[in-house]
Amino acid sequence: MRILLIEDDAMIGNAVSRGLGQAGFAVDWVTDGRAADVALAHRSHDLAILDLGLPKQDGMAVLATLRSRGDSMPVLIASARDTVRDRIAGLDAGADDYLLKPFDLDELVARVRALLRRHAGSATPILSFGGVDLDPVRRRVTRHGEPVALSAREFSILEALMQRPGAVLSREKLEESVYGWADEIGSNAIEVHLHHLRKKLGPGFIKNVRGVGYRVAEA
Ligand code: CA
Repeated sequence: MRILLIEDDAMIGNAVSRGLGQAGFAVDWVTDGRAADVALAHRSHDLAILDLGLPKQDGMAVLATLRSRGDSMPVLIASARDTVRDRIAGLDAGADDYLLKPFDLDELVARVRALLRRHAGSATPILSFGGVDLDPVRRRVTRHGEPVALSAREFSILEALMQRPGAVLSREKLEESVYGWADEIGSNAIEVHLHHLRKKLGPGFIKNVRGVGYRVAEA
C-alpha cells in the first residue's frame, strides 16, 4: 500500500516516513500544498496523511480540491490545530480522521491501517482468501494454517491482490502499490516477485489475466 505524506516539518516528516516504511508501506513525501495537489492528481496513492499548516497552500484547500474531483481516497489530517472547531471543519470538509499533533507514531500507523481496511470494505484486519490468511499488522502469511515466509515486496504485492479478491490489478497498479518514487524498479521486478509468490503459495493462487494483469483465485 502506498501512502502520500503531506508535511512541511522535516523532523515529523522523517519520523513518519520511517515509521510507515517499517510498517511495510511505500511512502512518498511532499512538503507544500501545491506539490500535494500535483501528487494527488496522479491518483496513485491509497491514502494521504495531510498536515494543515503548509507553505504555498493550506491543507484545507488541498482537501477541498481533492474532494471536488470526487476522489474518495482516505485522508487522515494530522495537525496541531487543536480546537473542536478545527476538527469539525476538517472532518466536514471530507477528511476521514483527524489526529492531533504531537501524536504517537504507533497510533498513526494503526489509524492508517484502520482507514485502509474500511475503505476496502473489510471490518477485520486479517485478509483471507482461498486458504491463505494475511495479517497486515503482524506481517504474517499462512496457507492452510502453515506459515509462509515472504519478502517485504512479496508481502506488499500479495496484500494488494488480497485487498480485492477476484479483481484484476495491472502490473502498473501493483508497482504503484509497492514502490515509492525514490525506489529503483527493475523492468521485470514485479514478475520476479510474482514468480516467487507462486512458488510459495501454489501455482493456481495468483492468476495471470493475459494482457490485463493479475488476480488471486480459488485454487
Ligand atoms: Ca505544518
